Amino acid sequence: MNIFLDFDDTLFHTAHFREDMKKVFKDCGVNEELFQSTYESVKKTFASGKIRTYDFDQHIREIVKRSSVKEESIRERVDIFLQNAGEYFFDDAIDFCVSMRSVGASIYIVSYGTSNFQKKKVMASGIGKYVEGLCVGDIDKGKEIQNILSLSDEVISWFVEDRIEHIQSVKEKNPSVQTILLKRTEGRYEDDMNIFCDFEAHDMEEAKEIIMSITK
Ligand SMILES: [Mg+2]
Repeated sequence: MNIFLDFDDTLFHTAHFREDMKKVFKDCGVNEELFQSTYESVKKTFASGKIRTYDFDQHIREIVKRSSVKEESIRERVDIFLQNAGEYFFDDAIDFCVSMRSVGASIYIVSYGTSNFQKKKVMASGIGKYVEGLCVGDIDKGKEIQNILSLSDEVISWFVEDRIEHIQSVKEKNPSVQTILLKRTEGRYEDDMNIFCDFEAHDMEEAKEIIMSITK
């Protein structure tokens, strides 16, 4: 069995992480107002595209443009902050990976992000120890999973994700993959189930129960 997992808001408490990162920016002289206004403008740029995302590098560029803050000093501080990224997993995230692997599942992280920062964050979290593969970047999750499946002998595959546009891409290109829409109360998005979602879960414990009950 293959299990494909999203990272942000699925395994990782991105809202907490973001709040703490804001404090790092504050220590570098970026006040709340500047952080928020530049954050909104970066978000808006991407909202016009199909996939909503946040681009760290573009955010830094905007902040530097509108203040006297030094780019290198923010980047240095953020790199130090990233060393603790492993503290931001939801309580059930690692447990899910460990117990699903113990029943023979191969787990892959598929994480969408346009900046190098996303790769750094995922790597720094240490999730690599618990999975077979990491696919992070400006990727189409449907195509990425299609590539992995073309090399896999496994018949059963699952995909757990909190955002509907990624579930749609995966299901359209890989109809045999069972999809679970994850709706955590702590998540930042509130997408609703549609025809591309086979199941809905509220945390990884529930996702595990669904997978075990269908797969056994
Ligand atoms: Mg997500």
